[in-house]
Amino acid sequence: MVKTKNKKMKLTSKILLALALGVGFGIISNLFFPANANELISKWVLEPVGKVFLRAIKMIVVPLVLCSLIAGVASMGDIKKVGRIGGKIVAYYMMTTAFAISIALVISNIFKPGNTGMNNLESATKITTKEAPFIMDIFVKMVPVNPIKSMVEGNMLQIIFFAILFGLGITIIGKKAEPLLNVINQANEVLLKIIGLVMLTAPYGVFALISKVIMFQGIDVLEKLFQYVGVVIFVLIVQAVIVYGIALKILGKVNPIKFYKKFWPVMVVAFSTSSSNATIPVNLEACEEKLGIPERISSFTIPLGATINMDGTAVMQGVAAIFIANVYGMNLSLEQQLMVILTATLASIGTAGVPSAGVVMLTMVLQQVGLPIEGAALVLSVDRIVDMFRTTANITGDAIGTLIVANSENELDLDVYNSEISVESNINN
Ligand code: ASP
Repeated sequence: MVKTKNKKMKLTSKILLALALGVGFGIISNLFFPANANELISKWVLEPVGKVFLRAIKMIVVPLVLCSLIAGVASMGDIKKVGRIGGKIVAYYMMTTAFAISIALVISNIFKPGNTGMNNLESATKITTKEAPFIMDIFVKMVPVNPIKSMVEGNMLQIIFFAILFGLGITIIGKKAEPLLNVINQANEVLLKIIGLVMLTAPYGVFALISKVIMFQGIDVLEKLFQYVGVVIFVLIVQAVIVYGIALKILGKVNPIKFYKKFWPVMVVAFSTSSSNATIPVNLEACEEKLGIPERISSFTIPLGATINMDGTAVMQGVAAIFIANVYGMNLSLEQQLMVILTATLASIGTAGVPSAGVVMLTMVLQQVGLPIEGAALVLSVDRIVDMFRTTANITGDAIGTLIVANSENELDLDVYNSEISVESNINN
């Protein structure tokens, strides 16, 4: 355990170092190297390395969405057993995710990250803006005629639709379908391992992607990236403090300050591991010991939340979609933005609670609304930093949903929730 944690920390530092080196190299070559030298470096080294990294990430998307979504939906099979609580928590998780991404889109439309009035990036594939589809068509075309074709074409909404039904089918069949579910769960685990392996190459990919962009675009692009990271973090803070604070007060009927006082150590774990899954044990412990939520509820809703509830990830995807559109000088129509809300909300069910899973799913959202997938390269270069913040929002949303549902069932132990907590007991955890 300790070993993997160390490894993770080391990878994070490597990626951040690669980011810094890539920025440095990009600036130096932009300012001091002759244009033909830059062309050569880019053609022979940076472009191939960056492309291999991006392609490896894209490679995982379709099988991952399929397997993780089927597994995610099937993991809700227990809903039948937990009945009302299951229904409430799933509705809460879905609604808050859609709300989070809507806020992200509104704020991004105001701040316009990436729209600095400077040169827009050229998309290698030339802008692929599809005509905005008629809104009803979006729903009609969610239903695949041939799911294999959807997979070949990478039509994500159709794959999602099929995967959800498949997961439901497994749930309904129950015991008999268990072997199949096991296979899917195992495939899911393998795919997550592959993401882990691909991420081992991230320092090289990040170096190549960022230095190539800066080499040709100059430092203007850095300003754009700062704006992107700034807007994502701003929206995440609005979500984690204001939206969740109001939810705690109005829906949970408790004092929000007490929540944050007791919950911050869990947030620190999420921040440092960038993994909702890795945070499950401390989250469970905090829910039961400090917040007064019965284990009966949290043992179901926290792992479920780590699997299907990704408010922070959805925020990142919303801001990233607007950012990429701005950077490429495109405009996202209202329909396309609604499509982002729909796709990202559904995608959050299938986003695994591990580092970088959200950015893999981002390529799917981009694809669905017709934005250039190379845009993901830009966002990828700073994703490590953003991941830490969004994971913190993700797991905070899980705990707050759990608390609200527990209180609505009159199962919240308010004496425990309102009790004072000593600083040492926070630190010991
Ligand atoms: N790292 C996030 C989490 O574990 C998922 C993501 O990459 O957005 O919640």
